[in-house]
Amino acid sequence: MVYHKTVMKCPIHKDKDLKTAIFYNTEIDYCPQGLGVWFEKGEFRIAKDGKQKNLDWLDVDLWKEKTKFQISEEEKQCPACEVPMYELSYNDSDIKVDICNVCEGVWLDRGEFKKIIGYLREKSSKKVMNEYVNSLLEETAEVFSGPESLEDEVSDVITVAGLLSHKLSAKFPTLANIISDLPRS
Ligand SMILES: [Zn+2]
Ligand SMILES: [Zn+2]
Repeated sequence: MVYHKTVMKCPIHKDKDLKTAIFYNTEIDYCPQGLGVWFEKGEFRIAKDGKQKNLDWLDVDLWKEKTKFQISEEEKQCPACEVPMYELSYNDSDIKVDICNVCEGVWLDRGEFKKIIGYLREKSSKKVMNEYVNSLLEETAEVFSGPESLEDEVSDVITVAGLLSHKLSAKFPTLANIISDLPRS
């Protein structure tokens, strides 16, 4: 993305400016109050820089079948575009992710990290998952800069960023089609 964003507001705490944290030279924006995180499209370089060679564990059921998506329009607005976002959920998981159909950005409430990680732990090999997280943590200690409150969740954040990079981006054309078929309010 070439354009430079102005200050963005939290979709939940509308008077709060989002702040910036850095993971592997990748900038993410988060709400200092609720610790929700905003990912712009293309902000997932961490998964592509060769440090994460074994991403096979990501190939669990999450978001695999396009008929299992549920999408609904919602109140929250995209911090970048200021249009309503869409809430995405999947099948038997209670994970909810907010996506913008214009800029393809993704908003995650703080609790969604835990849910996604829990879902992955349940569906994938625990051993592979733990090895993955541990190897990331060794590197992450040096590259993270941000508030301690967010650092507590750093393994979750980077794991989920990797997941989104590989799954959600690939699914975006499907999601856009579902959104375009939704009844207009
Ligand atoms: Zn907030
Ligand atoms: Zn947007």
